[in-house]
This record gives sequence, C-alpha cells and structure tokens, in this order.
Amino acid sequence: MTHPLRLHPDRLFPADPETRAVARRLYAEIKDLPIVSPHGHTDPSWFAQNQNWANPAELLITPDHYVFRMLFSQGVALEDLGVPRADGGPVETDPRKIWRLFAERYHLFRGTPSRMWHDWVYSEVFGIDVRLSAETADHYYDIIDAALKTDAFKPRALFERYNIEVIATTESPLDPLEHHAAIKASGWTGKVVTAFRPDPVLDPDFEGFLDNLDQLSAITGEDARTWDGYLAALRNRRAFSASHGATSTDHGHPTAKTADLPDAEIRALFARVSSGPVSSAEAELFRAHMLTEMAAMSLADGLVMQIHPGSFRNHNEVVFQKFGRDKGADIPTQTNYVADLKPLLDRFGSEPGLTIILFTLDETSYSRELAPLAGHYPALKLGPPWWFHDAPEGMRRFREQATETAGFYNTVGFNDDTRAFLSIPARHDVARRMDCGWLAKLVLEHRMEEDEAHELARALTYDLVKAAYKL
Ligand SMILES: [Zn+2]
Repeated sequence: MTHPLRLHPDRLFPADPETRAVARRLYAEIKDLPIVSPHGHTDPSWFAQNQNWANPAELLITPDHYVFRMLFSQGVALEDLGVPRADGGPVETDPRKIWRLFAERYHLFRGTPSRMWHDWVYSEVFGIDVRLSAETADHYYDIIDAALKTDAFKPRALFERYNIEVIATTESPLDPLEHHAAIKASGWTGKVVTAFRPDPVLDPDFEGFLDNLDQLSAITGEDARTWDGYLAALRNRRAFSASHGATSTDHGHPTAKTADLPDAEIRALFARVSSGPVSSAEAELFRAHMLTEMAAMSLADGLVMQIHPGSFRNHNEVVFQKFGRDKGADIPTQTNYVADLKPLLDRFGSEPGLTIILFTLDETSYSRELAPLAGHYPALKLGPPWWFHDAPEGMRRFREQATETAGFYNTVGFNDDTRAFLSIPARHDVARRMDCGWLAKLVLEHRMEEDEAHELARALTYDLVKAAYKL
C-alpha cells in the first residue's frame, strides 16, 4: 500500500493558531529571498563542467554521510551503499540496488531533518506525490533517473532554479582551484566562491601533513619547512584563494584551543612539527598557536575567520581504515571556549575590523560561554546551529539560549554546510520557517512589535549573512 507525499504549507510553524498566523505573515515576506550560502561543501567541478549527475544513488545517497551514518547504525554495510573503499576493493556498483536498500529503510529517518530535506527534494524538485518506501522504490528511481538525464537538472540549471545568489565551496590551500577559474572563464553568471580551509597544512595530525608542507612549498616557491617560509606560503595561498572569490577561512580543529607563543618558542615548536612526528600535546599547541596566526592574517587581508571545533573525527577506527575520512563517524565532544579562546582574544578580540564566527557541536556552551563571549567581544559572532544541530529543535535551542545575551545581530544567518546540493533550498527553508516561528512567539508575548519581527526575519535570512561574510 502506498501513501501520499504531502508537504504541509504550515510545516514547522507553531501549532497555536494565533502564533502561527504571525509566523505565516513573516514567512510570506522572506520565503522567496535569494539563497546566500556562505559555507558548504558542494563540488565546484559540478558548476565548472555542468554535466548531468549520473544516477539517483550517486547524487542522493553515496556522498551523503547523514544518510549512510543512519543506515550503517542499523546494520547496513557501507560497501552495499557503494561507498568507495580506501583499498579499491569491491563495493556495490548497481545504483538501483543501492537505491532500493535506502528506500526499504526510509522509515529509519522519521523525525530527522534528513527526512524533511529528502521529502522536499522528491516533492518540489521531482514532483513525486507518493511516499518513498520499498514498494515505491522503483517508481522513484525511474522518475529521478530520467529527470537527471535532462538539461533542466544539470547543476547550473538547478543553481538558477534554486535562486542561489552566491555559494561558497571549501578548499585546501593545496587545491589549484581550477574549477573556480573555469567557472569564471566560462562566462556563466552563477557566483561560486571558494573558502580557505588550511587544516591539511596547519594540523600536524592531518594525514600526510609533512608531504602537504612539501606540496605547499612547491606551489608557492617558499620553503614551507622553515617558519618564515611557512608563514609566507600561507599568506600566498590566502591571497590566491581570495583571488578566486574567498571571503572566509575555515578551521576544523578538534578543540577551540588558542595560544600566542613567544617567537623563540613557536620557531622551536615549528622545527619539531615540520621535521617529524610530534606528541599529541605538541600538535595541539601548534594548532592553537596557528589559530592566532590566522587571526593576525585575517586582520591584515580581511578574510572572515570561521572556527568549527569540537568534532572527534574518524571515531570509528575500522571504518576509517577501510573507507577514509568523512564517513559519518565524526562524534561531538565537549568544547571549552572561555579559557581556550582567551590567548587569541587577548590579542584580537577587541578589533572591530576582525570577524571570527564561532560554531559549536556542544550546545551546553550556548548560554554559558558562546552568547556571553559574542555579546561582548567586537570580533566575535555566532554561527548558526551546525551539523547535528542543523535541525528544528537545534535551531529552537540556539535562539532560546543565545538571544538573551548575544541578541540577533551577533549572529550571522544560516549556513547549509552541505555537499547535498539538491537539498540546499530545503535546508534554508527549515531555518526560515523556524526563525519566523520564533519571532512570532516574541511578537505574541509582546516582546517586540510585528514590524520589528518582519525586519528581523529578513535580516536573519539575508542581510546578516551578507554582511558577516562580506558577500
Ligand atoms: Zn563545513
């Protein structure tokens, strides 16, 4: 038996009719604003080459760690989802079989944001009107597969249909950014910019760190195994990234630790870090110092700094050995901001010309640490609920715990932070609806007037993100 697929027009709005009526009015004003996507992980080659995606599984399942994390937790082998193995060993290659495996287990996603994002894609993008299940798996596959072979579903066509004003991808300093150059040279008007993510050359624990330093030397002509050459090479690649549209850097360190070491100490530490394996304490101290160096460079070159700490990467050793990084095995940890950011803030926290956007996977820090920090330091702003918290409940908890101290204007709108290109509008729509619901509540409690709520709905959707990220 099949069931209809319906997206209710009031989804995610408050259930109380009076509040819902205000939320509807706020949402009507902002729902069609262009998408500004300042941080994410889409593949720039899609927009450079504008080729059709190969099939539904390759587009919607195999690259989406939200999807295969859940399936893996319920006993599905990653090989059976076509996830490539590090050793090149055999994995499932029949996209229809992969799709069926997912469809049969779609009920596992009930109550999760993945379910909302996927349903939006099926209904709004592909016009499907029955719910995904084992019985409808082939119906879905045939419709999506046929659509993906058409011009209307090529990356640039969808980019335009989605009303994306600008999207940022994320690249390493070692990336030649040839796809960004190709997009620019093509004459297409879609705006795709890069963001500078230096973890591969800032983190001694990153796979291949020493080789990465040598690559950094080779592409910059600096000797990145000397401290002065290393800093010059980093400045060089930041400028290169900015010349391909970057307005931001991004730092995915395990903790928010910062340090500001005296010159002799950092030179001695770099000599050890750049010549061989170091202890985890030395690696942590080096990353900590480099965040402060990055803030200094941001003050000079104007790149907005994003810090995404608190993820214990590759927690599942077996999965990491077999499949490599980014396989849904990153787990949040407790994060300390107050003590850990102090060395950086002592030097740069009061600089109004610097923007550091803080993210967290540790929600206990919102009202205790993050909102008070961002509600004081001119350099600090709060990023939106991230990753595990990019969900209706996560958004509600963020507004409830951060607004009282940081207000709205120390926040920066929404980030979709995704490689799942098809669901980008769905993700932004969830944030828009949740913000309108939250603002409606404040109006109904007579804590602000409705005209102020309208202004804020627009700011949270569009104005604040453009201003904070200089887009
Ligand atoms: Zn990200």
